[in-house]
Amino acid sequence: MGTLFRLVVYSQAPADSAARAAFDRIAELDRTFSDYNEASELSRLCRQPAGAPLPVSADLFAILQISQDLAAKTHGAFDVTLGPLTRLWRESRRARALPTADALASARRAAGFAHLHLDPARQTATLLRPGMALDLGGIAKGYAADAALNRLTQLGFPAAMVSASGDLALGDPPPGKRGWTIELAPFGDATATRTTLVLVHAAVSTSGDAEQFVEIGGVRFSHIIDPATGLGLTQSVAVTVVARRATVADALATACSVLDPVAAQRLTDASPEPVRLIVHRRDPVALLTSP
Ligand code: AMP
Ligand code: MG
Repeated sequence: MGTLFRLVVYSQAPADSAARAAFDRIAELDRTFSDYNEASELSRLCRQPAGAPLPVSADLFAILQISQDLAAKTHGAFDVTLGPLTRLWRESRRARALPTADALASARRAAGFAHLHLDPARQTATLLRPGMALDLGGIAKGYAADAALNRLTQLGFPAAMVSASGDLALGDPPPGKRGWTIELAPFGDATATRTTLVLVHAAVSTSGDAEQFVEIGGVRFSHIIDPATGLGLTQSVAVTVVARRATVADALATACSVLDPVAAQRLTDASPEPVRLIVHRRDPVALLTSP
């Protein structure tokens, strides 16, 4: 998943073998969800001929179902079928040059959540158009954090935290504490006003351009694709979502980065589980005074 996972476990008993089991579960999900690894289950699905259903694992089916549900609710602002565009954008970031109009047009033709069909009765997934590619980068880390925390809890270690860069899953509090103290430092800026959260049985995800961005022609683009342009987002926001589960927090943080502030608030207000949305803008004064 292109990141480091870190586990924190409080217990009287040695937690080594439980931690090993949690890391094994993360590795299993990496083998399932990775779009970098040609041997992953996701890559196999993407190689399937257009229109041919493929039976998929419970994990892949579950993450695709959650993704498609959010794609429908956000009218495609969050969309795991943007794979052809995220790949093209990775190349642009490396080359520090915008994609050509032709490359952009052909990637856009192969994207769109309406072209991914899921059959719950048969647990199959079907890509309906040629050249499609799926990218679970906006949700997989949260899903894996939930899965690792579940494994630790099942093995008798509920006072635990799983973190994967911007995604955290939190269990029972550390001994003697009310909860896990999480400090948000938007844009990685130590001098910015910090928000402190104290949480139990919760998840926190932040999406933003603090680390992964590229500047092309004086414009700063994020690694999150705006489906309206097919290019990286240009608005400088750091979006944090607090939810019960990291899968939900991760996906919503990515979705709310794309949506305008009103639509983002409406989406999180309508969530079936309680969700808190915190948006930091890089330069609020400049935004307020711009024409
Ligand atoms: P995150 O850091 O969780 O916000 O996820 C960003 C990653 O999600 C990107 O690196 C892509 O792999 C993927 N992605 C980019 N744009 C979108 C989008 N509009 N919807 C869903 N996933 C996206
Ligand atoms: Mg995300």
